[in-house]
Amino acid sequence: MKIICIGRNYVAHAKELDNEIPDEPVIFLKPDSALLRNNDPFFIPGFSNEIHHEIELVVRICRLGKNIERRFAHRYYKELGLGIDFTARDLQDKLKAKGLPWEKAKAFDKAAALGNTFIPKENLALSAIKFRLDINGSTVQSGDSALMIFPIDEIIEQVSKYFTLKIGDLIFTGTPAGVGPVHIGDRLEGYLEGQKLLDFMIK
Ligand code: ZN
Repeated sequence: MKIICIGRNYVAHAKELDNEIPDEPVIFLKPDSALLRNNDPFFIPGFSNEIHHEIELVVRICRLGKNIERRFAHRYYKELGLGIDFTARDLQDKLKAKGLPWEKAKAFDKAAALGNTFIPKENLALSAIKFRLDINGSTVQSGDSALMIFPIDEIIEQVSKYFTLKIGDLIFTGTPAGVGPVHIGDRLEGYLEGQKLLDFMIK
């Protein structure tokens, strides 16, 4: 199982980090050792002083496929969930400045928090899914899939040009604006259409 992540998929988020608006999806991977599940706490790693939260809609692949055309992409997922793409922003900034890969900043252990519950796509308006992240009771990120630069089916088309998609693979579809640091003692709660799918502590 692999975790595929899309970067800069919302205009407002790309701008807040001074990144260009991409003309094709920015793709990176996390290994399965990055998964953080069951609302287990996230421990801030010693190599970073600036871990950012990125709340994201997550697609779970339900069928083997490669070179999937956009019009068939809907057959490859049945449900959506919610995750947090934890990012060591200080480290990422250094790597980006040197033109190096991002893995140390994005793919470290437990850097991909994932809610246990997935919601069947028939129960969601796919082109306008609302989701959000609250920290200590205040909303810090609000997302709407209507604002994705590359919608889910186009992501699947693009990603599957390069990587065979397998059952159980996860696609983190990018974060809306409002990313920022987490601190020891913070409580993170993630909601998809009002349903709480994430609730865990930073330690
Ligand atoms: Zn992200």
